[in-house]
Amino acid sequence: MPYNISIKKTEKSKVEALDFNNIPLGTTFTDHMFICDYNNGQWQNPRIEPLKAIPTHPAAMALHYGQAIFEGMKATVNANGTPMLFRADKNATRLNFSADRMGMPHVPEALFVAGLKQLVALDKAWIPPQDGSALYLRPFMYADEAFIGMRAATSYKFIIIASPAGPFFSKRINLWAEKKFVRAVDGGTGEAKAAGNYAAAIRPTELAKQKGYDQVLWLDAAEHEYIQEVGTMNIFFKIDGKFITPRRDGAILDGITRMSVMDVLKDKGFEVIERPITLSEIREASEKGTLEEAFGTGTAVGIAYIQSIGTDQGDIHVSDESPVGLEVNNTLNAIKTGQVEDKFNWMLSVE
Ligand SMILES: *Cc1c(COP(=O)(O)O)cnc(C)c1O
Repeated sequence: MPYNISIKKTEKSKVEALDFNNIPLGTTFTDHMFICDYNNGQWQNPRIEPLKAIPTHPAAMALHYGQAIFEGMKATVNANGTPMLFRADKNATRLNFSADRMGMPHVPEALFVAGLKQLVALDKAWIPPQDGSALYLRPFMYADEAFIGMRAATSYKFIIIASPAGPFFSKRINLWAEKKFVRAVDGGTGEAKAAGNYAAAIRPTELAKQKGYDQVLWLDAAEHEYIQEVGTMNIFFKIDGKFITPRRDGAILDGITRMSVMDVLKDKGFEVIERPITLSEIREASEKGTLEEAFGTGTAVGIAYIQSIGTDQGDIHVSDESPVGLEVNNTLNAIKTGQVEDKFNWMLSVE
């Protein structure tokens, strides 16, 4: 390991206070964080410290100009209690893809993985052991230079925090096909995991929830007809026995769950096609009875089963059950906890 990560441990772990059978979502954090500073063109002083608030200059550029990107990934434990990371190399690659788009420096993959491994090893007691549970890891980078003016910042922080997450019981979700607001445009930042994409999605999501839907179905910006994503997930449809998912068009996030689900589906013998998909095509398939199931895919939730899609021309019924989605979700969870062979070579163990 070329990186010398200094470690300052907490005096007293807070893990005893956590009820692993009842983990509040997104509000519990482990004892430590990984942190590293970018100055003078270099990542410096990689360290693990007790988790705490970080002083921020009011002119920190991330607050004004939005140079802020993140990743989301999970650590699980196998039956021997060894922590494992799911496809960490892909998150490193994507973080740097996002960094390029936002004019930010790369984090070397070796540093990214070393920081993750050290943090997970140190906070191993926080990984919930139950099936479908995991330690959610949030690596992120933001511009912390104090400067007023429009250019790339010269100083950044790269931080990893961790939050235990209980099994996610996904109730079937109803989507709202959004035709007024868009999440991303070709040539924009939709392919980057940039904080600002989320900012733009918050209000439309609130409005969809006020109408009684769970998530927004995002459509393309030009015609409001091509399906892109659902909430913060990629989307798959099963029509006439075959799976289809929107082809990456420059505005769709390249989900790691998406790519993994494609592999698992193909391995189970399904045909998976990446191509443009229109809302009218989905409506017709539903009316003809060939729309068999649909689901969203993402790290946080795994697989979210879709019940219906609300549109300004009435609801489209998708399906009342998602047998293949459920099977794929179970397979992914079994790979993550070492219950089935990791034949795709996705897991990285943290010794
Ligand atoms: C993170 C994210 C996804 C899912 O990506 P995973 O790597 O599968 O977690 C999908 N869409 C958006 C907009 C996202 O931010």
